[in-house]
Amino acid sequence: MVKNQLSDLKRQAWKPIILDGESTLDASKTSGKVWFFNGETWPVCPNCQNPMRLVLQLNLQQLPDSLEEIFGSGLLQLFCCESNFEIKTGSFTLREPMGGYSDRVICITAYEDEFSETTVIETSELSEEESELIPGNPEPILEELIDTCWMQACKAFSTSQVIRIIQPKGEVNHVEVPDMEKTFPTKLIVGWEEIEDYPCPDEAEQYGILLSDEDKVSSEFILLNNVGDKLAGWPCWAQNIDYPKCPLCKQKMDQFIFQLEECETTNFPYPHSGLGVGYIVQCSTHKKQVAFFCQFT
Ligand SMILES: [Zn+2]
Ligand SMILES: [Zn+2]
Repeated sequence: MVKNQLSDLKRQAWKPIILDGESTLDASKTSGKVWFFNGETWPVCPNCQNPMRLVLQLNLQQLPDSLEEIFGSGLLQLFCCESNFEIKTGSFTLREPMGGYSDRVICITAYEDEFSETTVIETSELSEEESELIPGNPEPILEELIDTCWMQACKAFSTSQVIRIIQPKGEVNHVEVPDMEKTFPTKLIVGWEEIEDYPCPDEAEQYGILLSDEDKVSSEFILLNNVGDKLAGWPCWAQNIDYPKCPLCKQKMDQFIFQLEECETTNFPYPHSGLGVGYIVQCSTHKKQVAFFCQFT
């Protein structure tokens, strides 16, 4: 029933088929050795100086045929810092015209070096709803906040992560995997199992599908939006729909590439201890612009 209503939004998605072991530098994998250009070294977190872990390398030439060229070509690489090192960040709260503080923290996106220079780090992006709640012209003020590296690595565009698409041409640099606090065995993606995927109720509504309250909470609906690791399809949002904006064109980066979620049949030990879901998205216009972020359940 629900499936019929959503038929126009059905997308193909794929569960990765995983094998333990190591392979070539350009293989799709988690942990292990990957492709680096001549002169490059293993990514180190600029905040704590620890090596970052390879969360995923995806060879875009080895995806299912129907995805050919959709995400571009080359290797997508994602490295994240997993340390508990504490870093200072800034957060905005809003000062209301009559004094007093709104208890609303608008964004937590600034870093220590910028924090010391200026009081305006990023324009706080209030939704219309939020603006209405706060009378007058609230003045953003900064509060110091302590965050950990691994939490920062869960935020799009943070310095505790590296995400990039490279073209593996020219001379390759064989870089050994450095010692890390936590090590995970290398796992290879050796194939893809196709599944059907549908959006979550909130996202379906954004595409003009009218749903009853009953439908929205029905298990039939919820199961249509697949949890766990998957390639393409629709994000299974742990919280609100929240695509980051492309730094180049400011459009929503809603080309959905990959979801990482630790569950019973876990493949990728990330995000931490099964606490959330990680998403890799892309700007459909600027395919080199990819972003990784997590939401916590
Ligand atoms: Zn770090
Ligand atoms: Zn763009």
